[in-house]
Amino acid sequence: MTLNEISNRLSQEFQAAYGRPPAWIAAAPGRVNVIGEHTDYNDGFVFPMAIERYTVMAAAPAVPNSTVVRLRDVKGTHTATIDLAQPLKPAAKGSWHNYPMGVIAGFLGRGIRPPGFDAMLDSTVPMGGGLSSSAALEVATATLLELITGKTLDPVEKALLCQKAEHDYAGMPCGIMDQFISVMGKKDHILLLDCRSRETQLVPMSDPSVALLVTNTNVKHELTGGEYAQRRAQCEEAARILGLPSLRSATADVVERAKSKMSDVVYRRARHVVSEIERTQHAAEGVRASNWPTVGQLMYASHSSLRDDYEVSCPELDAVVEIAQGLGLRGGVYGCRMTGGGFGGCTVALVDSGKLQAVSDHIAAAYEQRTGIKPTIFESRPAAGASVLKR
Ligand code: ADP
Ligand code: MG
Repeated sequence: MTLNEISNRLSQEFQAAYGRPPAWIAAAPGRVNVIGEHTDYNDGFVFPMAIERYTVMAAAPAVPNSTVVRLRDVKGTHTATIDLAQPLKPAAKGSWHNYPMGVIAGFLGRGIRPPGFDAMLDSTVPMGGGLSSSAALEVATATLLELITGKTLDPVEKALLCQKAEHDYAGMPCGIMDQFISVMGKKDHILLLDCRSRETQLVPMSDPSVALLVTNTNVKHELTGGEYAQRRAQCEEAARILGLPSLRSATADVVERAKSKMSDVVYRRARHVVSEIERTQHAAEGVRASNWPTVGQLMYASHSSLRDDYEVSCPELDAVVEIAQGLGLRGGVYGCRMTGGGFGGCTVALVDSGKLQAVSDHIAAAYEQRTGIKPTIFESRPAAGASVLKR
């Protein structure tokens, strides 16, 4: 469904549920990270793009002087009521409305106070699928609140407000990538984000001959615990041994020369991070030059590094990458890698637009044959970030 189709259907459902049309409609996309994995907490670069999957929110004023916010989705399976006259505090962990409530709290904290309103949302971003439905919900809420209050936030401030909502209300200590791309994404552009300076650069990808294919392995391996925290600690240890504030300041040479001072594991973790930061910058140059074979090779190299040095892949992610690589350039695949934290979730592939269907069919069949699991596959071009559909 296109954004306009989702929005039109939402308008009708809003009218049916609340007995009047919405006054405001806002949307925000999910995202996929093209390259730059486990670099964010090392002050490195990430390179995400917004996908053509959106969370859309519509709203109309409540009765005059009301301080009550009513929220629901189109199906009526997620509902919540928030009274703005009461101090806000996070609901039980796992409650869906912690995301919008945390964003409302962020506005209140800045002295921006909306009146009561009725809202309804719909989304084509799969929930819990690693495509950041959480950031899409936060940023859609923030964009809606900008409309309702008439106060527009600076994009960086808006993204940080949404990140804080996820930290403080949803209890998820995420980085800045998801909210930044959902706010700042631009059609036909990938966002190069420097997690140290928070500087952003929109890199054009207007060549229509390629698209991204996202494959959800539909597995999520339960971790015995502490894998992420352990990786972070190992990166910090490497930086400490190198005498640097973070691995961002290291180079491959510096890591190599210090090899004997580190355990093998810490050395390999550092090697991944430093090489991945470099690959991410090179990939951005490759996209700028429409040099798809180079970008694809960097994606394969990223995957190998995540699998062998960082040890966050899994057999199912490796299977998709191997199947895609088996198709090769002649089959329409430039590159493929796991995306997201790892141990399951999605891969992202750079694919010849004319061969998307054939590649997708082949991956689906071969993956199911190998693993017995049906994957979920969809394509996307780089989409726009948060937008206003009615004001
Ligand atoms: P991801 O961001 O990868 O999709 P998360 O676990 O971070 O996964 O966020 C998913 C959670 O966000 C859901 O469990 C739900 O609480 C909330 N959420 C996201 N989108 C919606 C939506 N459209 N309607 C209701 N809740 C949503
Ligand atoms: Mg999330």
